[in-house]
Amino acid sequence: MTRNLTCIVCPRGCSLKVELAADGKIETVEGFACPRGKQYAIDECTHPMRTVTSTVRATNGEPVPVKTSRTIPKELIFACMDAINAATVTLPVHIGDVVIPNVLDTGADVIVTAERK
Ligand code: SF4
Repeated sequence: MTRNLTCIVCPRGCSLKVELAADGKIETVEGFACPRGKQYAIDECTHPMRTVTSTVRATNGEPVPVKTSRTIPKELIFACMDAINAATVTLPVHIGDVVIPNVLDTGADVIVTAERK
């Protein structure tokens, strides 16, 4: 089976072609211009990961931008969004403040990405 992907690691957006065996093992990766792209293709076909960006509500109702401090498994995105939607923060907050530590036991924290007073 062939999977065609666009590398999202940098703005160049290389077109990647991954050949997979019937058991899902990766046979070849083509199209990458650097090793990060090859690793992205391998990860995407074996265990896709994503950074989650969203907003959390402050106690005054204002939305505060947040993101995960590192990528988390793609299949946990909706559960992560549920955790973010259930959370609130009290202003003021600062960039890097931890809103949810170790969200869903992923090792990633949900952190604030903008200053709010
Ligand atoms: S393969 Fe390398 S150069 Fe190409 S988009 Fe991915 S990170 Fe960028």
